[in-house]
Amino acid sequence: MQTDYTIIGGGVIGLSIAYELLKKNFSVTIFNVTGPTTASLAAGGMLGGQNEFSEPSPLFDLAIESRAQHSVLATELDALTGIDVELIPSGLLKVATQPSDMPSLTQQYQFLTTQPATPVLWRKANEVEPLMSDLGQGIHITGDHQVKARQLTKALTKAVQLLGGTIIAEHVRKINTATLTTDNGHYHYQHLIVAAGAWSKQLVPQLPMYPVKGECMMLRVQRAPRTTIFAADGCYIVPKKNNEVLIGATSYPHQSDAGVTAGGIQSLLTRAIAMMPSLKHAQIIETWCGVRPQTIDELPIIGAISPHIYCCTGHYRNGILLSAITGKLVSEALIGDVNAQQRLAPFSPYRFI
Ligand SMILES: Cc1cc2nc3c(=O)[nH]c(=O)nc-3n(C[C@H](O)[C@H](O)[C@H](O)COP(=O)(O)OP(=O)(O)OC[C@H]3O[C@@H](n4cnc5c(N)ncnc54)[C@H](O)[C@@H]3O)c2cc1C
Repeated sequence: MQTDYTIIGGGVIGLSIAYELLKKNFSVTIFNVTGPTTASLAAGGMLGGQNEFSEPSPLFDLAIESRAQHSVLATELDALTGIDVELIPSGLLKVATQPSDMPSLTQQYQFLTTQPATPVLWRKANEVEPLMSDLGQGIHITGDHQVKARQLTKALTKAVQLLGGTIIAEHVRKINTATLTTDNGHYHYQHLIVAAGAWSKQLVPQLPMYPVKGECMMLRVQRAPRTTIFAADGCYIVPKKNNEVLIGATSYPHQSDAGVTAGGIQSLLTRAIAMMPSLKHAQIIETWCGVRPQTIDELPIIGAISPHIYCCTGHYRNGILLSAITGKLVSEALIGDVNAQQRLAPFSPYRFI
């Protein structure tokens, strides 16, 4: 049966759009084959609405709004699916681990204090988080919380199914006007949304995107930190439930293979233990990697590329954070809401094609 909307990609972006469309009583089919590097299953889960910005960006307001929406979404998903997305109000402490990172940290602090979001504080790092080594002052961003990305993906998947959405585990090989092709045949669609993460370019070759592979690991500790620690060099320590601590992430532009390297894990552990010495006693319980969808101007690509094909991808390292607002605005824009269309205009694919 042909549904109102067909979505390619069942990561947090495709699922969030489906969830919002289903709540508006549209019918939705998702085509998704989960791969070993699906980004939504690999993410740190940080909702870095302020941490991710050091200068004005058309994404800033959306990020702050999305961060706030995650608390509402967590409650909604728990009530509907019984799945806890493990939203932890840990806040985030951003630190410089080497003197050369201090100017950018200071500049970010100055930028954030001019923005109308949760106040940020310039504080001694090991007073905010007693497990830290003495790294001097850092930026305490009290509003940047975090979720468990796999739980969010699982909850959204179940919510979509409970609301009547169909998920078809077939790989889409090709899209044409009005039909798409999988290994099992052709399907007709009315409106198609390409939300295939780092693989979107395989379906829409004119999208100027590239993959950025990242590795992470999960540790089990005796005593967990209470705050997320984010070093200016990109290494982070995120306290999860049950004394688990997620360490991330490496960054390899233009790589998309599924292997976790010894060098990547060594680099993460060296940097994490230097920031928090007690981690050297932790047990390694899992390592993994994923592929972030990046664009050449580092902004997502959201909008129609033809009367029946809409793209929504390129959320790079903030797709978990931005998933809530993306689902809401895209579902509104698709049904003609002018305000949503205007808010998404800076991300139009027509800036490239
Ligand atoms: C290591 C790492 C750490 C990260 N940490 C954070 C973080 O802390 N906070 C944050 O906000 N973001 C983080 N991110 C970024 C975030 O994970 C991504 O931006 C987000 O998950 C992208 O979601 P997506 O739905 O676009 O893509 P994906 O989650 O990759 O989903 C796309 C899905 O589509 C499927 N697919 C692709 N092509 C086809 C096809 N042709 N047919 C069928 N199925 C197809 C894929 O297999 C996949 O399942 C991180 C990413 C990585 C890799």
